[in-house]
Amino acid sequence: IIQARGLVKTFGQTQALRGIDLDIDRGEVVAIMGPSGSGKSTLLHALAGVIVPDAGTVTVDSRVISVLREPERAALRLRKFGFVFQFGQLLPDLTALDNVTIPLLLAGRKRADAIRQSSAWLDRLGLAGEARQLPGELSGGQAQRVAIARALVMKPMVLFADEPTGSLDSLAAENVLTAMLDLVREEGTTVVMITHDPRTAAYADREVIVRDGQLSAAHAPQTLTSATP
Ligand code: ATP
Ligand code: MG
Repeated sequence: IIQARGLVKTFGQTQALRGIDLDIDRGEVVAIMGPSGSGKSTLLHALAGVIVPDAGTVTVDSRVISVLREPERAALRLRKFGFVFQFGQLLPDLTALDNVTIPLLLAGRKRADAIRQSSAWLDRLGLAGEARQLPGELSGGQAQRVAIARALVMKPMVLFADEPTGSLDSLAAENVLTAMLDLVREEGTTVVMITHDPRTAAYADREVIVRDGQLSAAHAPQTLTSATP
């Protein structure tokens, strides 16, 4: 579903990506691991069309997205991708429910419909009782679940998560992660998640290790088995 070829990205003197090839299949859950500063977030941003590589291509669903201009990439991200970050980035003045409805309302759904769907997702994440609370009134794990509901409510083709449980203690992290992965497996959502935690990575179908801007050889992706578009 995603093919990256020869990705290179330099920030000033720093070579964040030094030629990365990676194929991700539809429905696959991929964990990206590696030391701090090795280029994991840069890779995720390139795969998601948040940044454009200096060289190389990213193809999503047969479309080369790395040549698109920001407005087209932004539209594509909104339509096809969901994002969860280490700190959920919920809007602090909106209730949990209203935070989840935002993407639906932006996409033009009717308010009643958006509320119905958002409530259902909060339910599935075990937050039926927290819908009316503000982010400041939620635990860290609950807030991350709201962020996950907000990312999944649009039924994204790919969920990108950058240390989604990195701010939580290990029990909360495990609960949030298993809730997230149960849902994405039910939905068949492709997941690309960065983690530092080997136990988290163990939930993935595949681990890839980024070292110094390159995929480490032992975990290089298998050769392309499905036909290229
Ligand atoms: P961490 O585990 O700490 O999040 P990471 O593997 O995600 O690290 P990246 O954020 O991808 O690492 O950064 C890779 C390298 O590129 C680092 O040396 C970082 O300082 C540099 N870098 C990343 N983004 C920028 C930027 N916007 N401007 C300048 N340098 C950047
Ligand atoms: Mg990072």
